[in-house]
Amino acid sequence: MADDIPFDKTLELAPDSVREPVPGLRVVMANNPGPFTFKGTMSYILGRGRVAIVDPGPDDPAHTAALLDAVRGETVTHIFVTHTHRDHSPAAPRIKAATGATVYAEGPHRAARALHIGEHNPLDASADREFAPDVALKDGEVVTGDNWTVEAVTTPGHTANHMAFAWKEAHALFAGDHVMAWATSIVAPPDGAMSDYMASLAKLAKRSEQIYLPGHGPAITDAPRFVSYYILHRKAREASILHRLGKGESDIPAIVRAIYIGIDPRLTGAAGLSVLAHMEDLVTRGLVETDGEPSISGVYRLR
Ligand SMILES: [Zn+2]
Repeated sequence: MADDIPFDKTLELAPDSVREPVPGLRVVMANNPGPFTFKGTMSYILGRGRVAIVDPGPDDPAHTAALLDAVRGETVTHIFVTHTHRDHSPAAPRIKAATGATVYAEGPHRAARALHIGEHNPLDASADREFAPDVALKDGEVVTGDNWTVEAVTTPGHTANHMAFAWKEAHALFAGDHVMAWATSIVAPPDGAMSDYMASLAKLAKRSEQIYLPGHGPAITDAPRFVSYYILHRKAREASILHRLGKGESDIPAIVRAIYIGIDPRLTGAAGLSVLAHMEDLVTRGLVETDGEPSISGVYRLR
C-alpha cells in the first residue's frame, strides 16, 4: 500500500499463547487475523502479580480464556482500552466480571462528526457501542499500579475516542491502532477524522517514548523515526490527491485507482474512506471544493 514506510511484517506469534517481549510485559494475540487486524489483536498484560490488561480484545471466548489463563494466580487490577473497535474492547466486560478489575478508557464509542443528511455510517458494524469505561480518562491523567505507571495520551483520528497509554517505567507507549509497524492506520469518516489524526501524530512526535506496542503486529523500537515516516506518508498521500486534482476534477474511486497501486482488493473500501478523510480536511482548509458536504460519491476539484 505504501512503500515509503519501512514496514515490519515479521511476527512469529501463535494465537492465544503467552510471550514476554519486554521484561514486565506479556502479550497474548487473539486469533482474529484479517486485512485490518494483521495476524490478530494484541492484548497486553502489564506487570506481575497485580497486573493491568491493555485491550482485552474481541468477543472470543478462547481469547478471553487464554488471557485469564495467563494471569492465573495473579490479580487483574486494571483494564485499559485504547478504542472501541470490535477487535479491541468487547472482551472487557468478561475480563472485568472474572477479575473485578476497573476499566479505563477515554469514553464510549462516538463518531468524529455527525452524519450528513442521507449518509449512512459504513463503519457501524466495526464499533462496540456497548462499551463504557468505569473511569473516563483525560489527556495526561496518570494511573498508578503495582510497579507500573501509565499516562493517558488522547490520540483521536482512527476513532474519536482513541487513547494511547504511556508506560512510564519502560519509556514505551501502548499505541493501539494509531501507529503500527505492519501497515498505516485507517482513518475513515465519520468515526475517524484526518485533521485529528494528523494532530495526534504531531503530538506523538513531541514525546520521548522509544518503543511502541501497537494493537496489531510487532513492536516498534524506533518510535520517533517511525512517527516521522507516518507523517511524511500522510503528507505524500495528500500531495498525490492534490496532484491528481490538478489534472482536473475527479471522484474518490478514480483517485483510489490512481494512487493506491497494487492495493489488496479487500482494502479498496477503506482506501476510499481514507481519501474521503483527506478530502474533508482539504475542503475545511479551503484547498479543495465539492458540491455540498464532502461525501464518498462526491466530485472534487481544486479551489
Ligand atoms: Zn481500530
